[in-house]
Amino acid sequence: MADKLAKYRGKRDPERTPEPVPGAGPLPEGNDDTFVIQEHHARRLHWDVRLERGGVLVSWAVPKGLPLDPKTNHLAVHTEDHPLEYASFEGSIPHGEYGGGKVVIWDRGRYVTEKWTPREVKVVFDGSRASGRYVFFQIREGDWMVHRMDPPPRPDWQPVPVGIKPMRPTVGQLPPADQDAAWGFEMDWGGEPAIVVVDGGRARVEVSGADQTTRYPELRALGATLGSQVCVLGGTLVVLDPHGRPSAARLKERREASARQIQRRSGIAPVTFLVTDLIHLDGQDTTPLPYEERRRLLEEFLPAGPNWHMSPTIAGGPDALAASRDLGLRGIVAKRLDSTYRPGRRTDDWLSISNLPTLRVAIAGWLPPAAAEDDHQIGGLILGVDNADGLAYAGVVRTGLTAADRSELAGQLRRLVRKTPPFSTPPPDLADAHWVRPTLAGEVSYRDWGADGRLRRPTWLRRLPAG
Ligand code: MN
Repeated sequence: MADKLAKYRGKRDPERTPEPVPGAGPLPEGNDDTFVIQEHHARRLHWDVRLERGGVLVSWAVPKGLPLDPKTNHLAVHTEDHPLEYASFEGSIPHGEYGGGKVVIWDRGRYVTEKWTPREVKVVFDGSRASGRYVFFQIREGDWMVHRMDPPPRPDWQPVPVGIKPMRPTVGQLPPADQDAAWGFEMDWGGEPAIVVVDGGRARVEVSGADQTTRYPELRALGATLGSQVCVLGGTLVVLDPHGRPSAARLKERREASARQIQRRSGIAPVTFLVTDLIHLDGQDTTPLPYEERRRLLEEFLPAGPNWHMSPTIAGGPDALAASRDLGLRGIVAKRLDSTYRPGRRTDDWLSISNLPTLRVAIAGWLPPAAAEDDHQIGGLILGVDNADGLAYAGVVRTGLTAADRSELAGQLRRLVRKTPPFSTPPPDLADAHWVRPTLAGEVSYRDWGADGRLRRPTWLRRLPAG
């Protein structure tokens, strides 16, 4: 009879690996009914599913582990038969050796064979983590797929949601003092809102709905850290400066780095994912849970890593706002402790409260967007402020305007059109400017005043009543 373990021995040197390497000889006899699944942190994380049969462990390396969702099949690479002694192996295979990396037993138990042919294996697992009916089927030489034949493990089990959009705050003020205790306060880090999906030991980074996983390779380790745990996290990507403060300039460099620059830049200016929310956990949709409960779950299961950790919640709005000012941040986000997570929505359960000065402005006109077909669309608003001589030009605001703001204002401003600028002194030459009677007012925040008398970095906050 052929030596079933010849290939196994051929890949290993017993002097250099802690793995069991039995000599040739008759194979032990089992009952063809035990299995082991080992989580193997090799160069790429995978789970080795091994079924005891005919005196050996018949083995597949499954990169994403056994699927829980019957609608999703996972790749299972057929690997060499392993000796029965391997069923109890845990340890570290030295780097540079075959399969170098840590091996831990993820589950073991009994299984029942329903069908076993050279190209199809149907079994029922009865372990503490792996349970239910599965079929392994060959799709080409060496490559198999594994499919769950049972329904998901729990009736309320949910697959990982795809394309989740972050919930967003509305611009607001600190809640009144007597309601302070109903809110949690987080720093506004001014980073890039992101969703990170961890599934099958892989972390996928989504920014504005686009897959940016390869742009932020330092978050790959989050997948290996969480192993078979499945979750969807909301948070913010930041790049810190040498003083530990988020740097908009460094983040911009990372956002714009070419494929060739990414590796180098991730070494010089690594990104940190500040986790603020939990959207899904191990088959449970956590969006209906209150903010407070979602944060508690996060604290419980998410281990901090070199490039990710929870962004803290601070009690007490005035203290939080003062802390953010001391840290040189732009403000805080207040979140109602009892509020649910509403993907893609901007609600007043979350308030963005700015540290920046604010100012009442008059709308003196608008600029159409760069490539606008319709001149009445609003790209930016031309701002005026009252001074001793009348209305003075104060710059153009483009950020902070939502699509709803733009369409509402477009309708109103169209009725106020006039031919000439409404300023007391001539404004700079603004190509494509449309002037209006300056009767609509609004509030902007801004960084400071430029020497040219214009607002620097103005952000539109809201409309204000006339007068
Ligand atoms: Mn392996």
